[in-house]
Amino acid sequence: MTRNISWLTLILFFIIITNLLYSCTSSDEKTKQIKKEEIAIKIPFFNADSAYYFVKKQTDFGARVPGSKAHAECAAWLKNELLDCTPHVIVQEFKTRVYSGDVYSGKNIIASFYPESKARIMLCAHWDSRPFADHDPDPAKRKEPVMGANDGASGVGVLLELARILKNNSPFAGIDIIFFDLEDYGPPQDSQNEGANEHWGLGSQYWSGNPHVSDYKARFVILLDMVGAKDAKFRKEGFSMYYAPDKVKKVWDIAAGLGYQDYFLNETGGYINDDHYFINEIRKVPAIDIIHLDQNSSNGSFFEYWHTTGDTFDKIDKETLQVVGDVVTKVVFAEK
Ligand SMILES: [Zn+2]
Repeated sequence: MTRNISWLTLILFFIIITNLLYSCTSSDEKTKQIKKEEIAIKIPFFNADSAYYFVKKQTDFGARVPGSKAHAECAAWLKNELLDCTPHVIVQEFKTRVYSGDVYSGKNIIASFYPESKARIMLCAHWDSRPFADHDPDPAKRKEPVMGANDGASGVGVLLELARILKNNSPFAGIDIIFFDLEDYGPPQDSQNEGANEHWGLGSQYWSGNPHVSDYKARFVILLDMVGAKDAKFRKEGFSMYYAPDKVKKVWDIAAGLGYQDYFLNETGGYINDDHYFINEIRKVPAIDIIHLDQNSSNGSFFEYWHTTGDTFDKIDKETLQVVGDVVTKVVFAEK
């Protein structure tokens, strides 16, 4: 009897423990599920119509070539747009010598969100237009400026919409948005200096040596360049893979999770001398470039109208802006 009672007790004990364990596991699962849903709900909606409008607005000023009226007017507009979203806006003015020896004034336009947050993510794009369309198929047009609807304005348009989102939504990390000036003043292709890295990315070189906050650090930097053409192809750029392969993986994984594998291709592209290179080299912050890389285009590297007079607003595709906007928004708001 004692033995029987003991067996019975053991069986009962086993049933109770199993049930308890089961209910614990299942409530843990439920909590995880709810947390997942909460995270999903907290990713705000990126409005591509708004980004599209911001791209158009920049091109309406004309080509934003340093020293031009369009450049000055666009700088003032960008500052005001950012001030609508955060009080923490800095216009970093600098002087720099371009490849020809001429000295130009530049403006890096910087907006900070939640500056008290130590964990930071930096997002950037260049806002200047290239002064000459040196890759235009028509030799007669190669001294004309590039409108830069895609090469410049597209990245800025996406980030202006993100600034609007950040006005009302606070991610875990503080965010710095920087619009770099004088990225695209590198020597023309027939120049002796062609290919010299130091003549490109003059705004990001200046900022990297003179950040707006002393000893500025961020978890990572995402640069957007040429992110608005129809059926854009974002291949994994060489310097991004060299300096920050884990950040490339993070962004490409998020893109794949959103179903955007046809844009964010699981392929490597060439090494591009862009603003992120100087941020990696000089500022030593891991920086990646989301850039349209297409070896099948007529220029063999970038989107079809790169550095031509054809880089105009009609080449901008709202769907591509949506894809890039969704990915960057999710990267920012999923960060813990
Ligand atoms: Zn360019």
